[in-house]
Amino acid sequence: VNKGSWKNSYQFYTKEVSEISLRRTLLSASLRRALEKNEFVLYYQPIIDVKSGQITGVETLVRWDHPEFGLLQPDKFIPLADETSLIVEIGKWVLQEACKQARYWQDAGGEPISIAVNTSAIELGQSPYLNYITEVLKKERFDPALLELEITESVLMRDADTSIKVLRELKQMGIKIAIDNFGIGFTSLNCLKKYPIDILKMDRSLTNDMTTSADSLSIVNAIVGLAKNLGILVLAKGIETQEQLDLLTKMNCNKVQGFIFSEPVTGEKLLSFIKLRKTGTFT
Ligand code: C2E
Ligand code: MG
Ligand code: MG
Repeated sequence: VNKGSWKNSYQFYTKEVSEISLRRTLLSASLRRALEKNEFVLYYQPIIDVKSGQITGVETLVRWDHPEFGLLQPDKFIPLADETSLIVEIGKWVLQEACKQARYWQDAGGEPISIAVNTSAIELGQSPYLNYITEVLKKERFDPALLELEITESVLMRDADTSIKVLRELKQMGIKIAIDNFGIGFTSLNCLKKYPIDILKMDRSLTNDMTTSADSLSIVNAIVGLAKNLGILVLAKGIETQEQLDLLTKMNCNKVQGFIFSEPVTGEKLLSFIKLRKTGTFT
């Protein structure tokens, strides 16, 4: 055994690790500062009802307007926020901001639309989260029936008993529950029976190659059918082409979301979409 080379790689290894943890520490400190300085912004992507062609809601998507690096996408900071539990604070801010914005749209644009908020497993695992949601809804005088919480399949697998309890309470408040990225995880179909689910959001990877892969098309078809039979709504994410939209319309998929209608936009821009919807020119 060449001790020298072992020692070198060991040193290399520890150096790597400490660099990584240093980077994490710096990043989580700056995330905290970003919250204090109000550097997060929300973007909104329209959710379209297939039958009427109208916007019935939006998904809120957070970005970090970084003073040096510009607008950062969530994949750059949400994973770390998740690990450090800062996601709880960010999630609170997102909910509050989204409710405020939705009320502003209502006042300025008319008909109320629903807001979907991404929720991480850590948030759902905390009972204060329920209290916070209640507080915000009251404070913003926002109708719970217009709030949709998006959870991923992993939440359902993490801690089944606690999450069922929390989800049932949310449901009792009138809040809607959506399963995000459905169809790529490992949820047993039995979960759909056990949990109080209102809507399945099909993963983009399934709808993506629906037009070129017969297998994907069958899977999408089956998920739409499954949702129908269970009496829950189904939404197709990541719709980019007319061909995809036509197929989903034929299948009677309830809702769609994707670049074909709009990418996520600012609150101001979304208001102009809502106003367009009223004149029926939005598609
Ligand atoms: P997600 O919930 O799956 O959100 C959908 C993502 O797909 C968004 O990316 C959106 O911009 C993108 N997208 C929408 N339509 C299309 C399309 O037609 N084609 C393609 N290629 N992409 C499309 P974004 O905004 O970068 O968000 C990434 C993820 O970050 C979200 O995935 C969500 O998991 C997470 N995230 C965003 N905001 C929050 C938040 O407030 N809290 C938490 N916990 N997670 C968030
Ligand atoms: Mg993105
Ligand atoms: Mg989502």
